[in-house]
Amino acid sequence: MTAGQAGRRADGGGHVEVVVVGGGPAGSAAALTLARAGRTVLLADAGSGPPKIGEALPSAARVLLHDLGAGERPLGEGHLPCYANLSAWGSPALHRVDFIRDPHGPGWHLDRRRFDRALREEARAAGAELAEHTAVRRAARHPDGGWTVTLRRRPAPETGTGPADERVVRCSWLVDASGRRRAIAVHRRTVHRRTDRLVAGCLELPPATADGWGELSSLVEADGDGWWYTALLPRGRRLVAYFTDADLAGPLPRDAAEFTRLMARTSHVAARAAAHPPPVRALLRRAPAHSAHLDSPTGDGWIAVGDAAAAFDPISSQGILTALHTGMTGAEALHRHLDGDDAEDGALTAYRTNVAALLAAYRRNHRAVYAMERRWQDRPFWQRRLDPTPA
Ligand SMILES: Cc1cc2nc3c(=O)[nH]c(=O)nc-3n(C[C@H](O)[C@H](O)[C@H](O)COP(=O)(O)OP(=O)(O)OC[C@H]3O[C@@H](n4cnc5c(N)ncnc54)[C@H](O)[C@@H]3O)c2cc1C
Repeated sequence: MTAGQAGRRADGGGHVEVVVVGGGPAGSAAALTLARAGRTVLLADAGSGPPKIGEALPSAARVLLHDLGAGERPLGEGHLPCYANLSAWGSPALHRVDFIRDPHGPGWHLDRRRFDRALREEARAAGAELAEHTAVRRAARHPDGGWTVTLRRRPAPETGTGPADERVVRCSWLVDASGRRRAIAVHRRTVHRRTDRLVAGCLELPPATADGWGELSSLVEADGDGWWYTALLPRGRRLVAYFTDADLAGPLPRDAAEFTRLMARTSHVAARAAAHPPPVRALLRRAPAHSAHLDSPTGDGWIAVGDAAAAFDPISSQGILTALHTGMTGAEALHRHLDGDDAEDGALTAYRTNVAALLAAYRRNHRAVYAMERRWQDRPFWQRRLDPTPA
């Protein structure tokens, strides 16, 4: 048994070394890494926010999950394989990239709730204390270092049972893994840079009534004001999403009916959607999808990982991979720092350099991918991506 496996909770005085704020992939990877290193960790997840559906995980995640010690357990059940990426991007014809030659095999269309829950369980099994349905409401910095953190647990949404209660813990460090909310960084006067205004409208279609389009691949299709994405979901349902800029007049449909009308003008997405009955009383969900990052992913007594540190345009398909990677490497840096052999701040500096390198690579690829689409260079959505200026 490792030090972590003892399931170490806050001591009698309510003190842990690290509180991880947010139990998405980044927070779980951080808590898992710290607990395996023998640190006392509390992983608090509010479990709020819109559901994340139809997300794809590239097969390279296998390597990261093994590095985290989780193996393939989080990918065990409930997810669909993803065998290819199809794209009508740069031309109306569909281009196919098959994963048959990928050394890691096929990717996945994730059931995110299941995946995230399994990863949190991995962190718990490694010894982190897991507080689900629990939000960090306040984090007060002590003048002599350390934090007092107020946690609020709400009744489990599945059952509506259990009292809402508040609890206070003390810790030495915080990991901000709260996704695009940046719950901690936002209060630390950290400069946050948003480089575009991408927003998604997402619609779920009921199970298919006709055969023929049940292929297990993801598909993107560009249009003049943005791009479409579609993928099958478990139990034959389908996600269709449209990505455009929030400030462009008109293009993001207001409701499901308008979305369906706009979708009918596409070629490949419409052909796949036609196999599904029209959605009844369906809700069109909006989600922010812009690129954004903190000037520095570390501060006085805290580090940021995952989307809280750097959030990517979903065209990259790198969000979850980056969350796992920064969760793990951020936690490793913090562990070395807490060990006290980091007088020069070298481990945290290396983490900052690592995140800066990820961002630089992301920007290069992002620009190259959008530059491949030349059919609508006179339209603002595409012009902006050829000549990006901060939004
Ligand atoms: C429309 C859309 C489609 C996408 N598609 C893909 C895709 O196909 N593939 C891909 O790899 N990526 C995709 N992404 C990106 C991906 O969703 C994110 O990069 C990923 O979820 C980041 O993980 P995270 O752990 O940093 O944050 P999150 O997954 O957002 O997790 C943050 C967690 O913190 C919790 N939280 C927030 N505030 C608090 C608080 N105060 N206290 C406690 N808990 C808190 C939240 O409840 C949540 O559980 C997509 C994004 C969007 C918007």
